[in-house]
Amino acid sequence: MMIIAGPCAIEGDNFITIAKVVKELGATHLRGGIFKPRSSPFRWSGLHEAAIPLAREAKRITGLPYVVEAMNAKQIELLYDVADYFQVGARNQQDSELLREFGRQDKPVILKRGMATTIEEFVMAADFITTEGNKNVILCERGIRTFEPYTRNTFDVSCIPAIHDLCDLQIIADPSHGTGRVELVTPVALAALAAGADGLMIEVHDDPPKAMTDGQQSLTFAEFDQLMRKVNKMQEALEWITD
Ligand code: PEP
Ligand code: MN
Repeated sequence: MMIIAGPCAIEGDNFITIAKVVKELGATHLRGGIFKPRSSPFRWSGLHEAAIPLAREAKRITGLPYVVEAMNAKQIELLYDVADYFQVGARNQQDSELLREFGRQDKPVILKRGMATTIEEFVMAADFITTEGNKNVILCERGIRTFEPYTRNTFDVSCIPAIHDLCDLQIIADPSHGTGRVELVTPVALAALAAGADGLMIEVHDDPPKAMTDGQQSLTFAEFDQLMRKVNKMQEALEWITD
């Protein structure tokens, strides 16, 4: 199963430490944003090109494939060599021309659900990529906007089995952005797996209170270790249920 882990953004040398630890604890893929989409232009938006050597080094040391968001054609070009998977973020999921551009790439794409996208629209967004030729699309449920302010987004667990009913694409769960609260990440991750999620995307940081972005939803190493133990037990339980 795909377990994508790492910080919200690459911030510096600590990315190498995070990469090593998440690999040791069972991550199969590495994340860490280079160009971050933000809700305000006045907020820090990543190290940009300066992060690329750090991503390369973390990949070299861990051997893990690396997932990174690109927001336009220029970023696709800049990140092409270092990216193993491209991510389309929630904020750009409705940009059909950008989706077509990812459809012309020869790397897998993780397509995150937009904040106000229905399940059927989500499937149609993936069609913009696949009809251009790139069939390697993995969907990611990361919560939608509702009236509930306690959580950052409302994680829609029903999206997971619904997607399996509607198309042949895999769907993974991002309970970090889906809840925005560290104490809710593990229970929602387990719920997503029980509902049939094909993997997880989890934000992990060496010192969450000091994170430049999304510290409030980033697991410490010890918390990620606990999550992985529970994920493994959940997988055993699911095998037992489906037998
Ligand atoms: C992210 O995964 O870094 C991110 C910004 O997520 P989303 O697009 O789901 O908000
Ligand atoms: Mn984030």
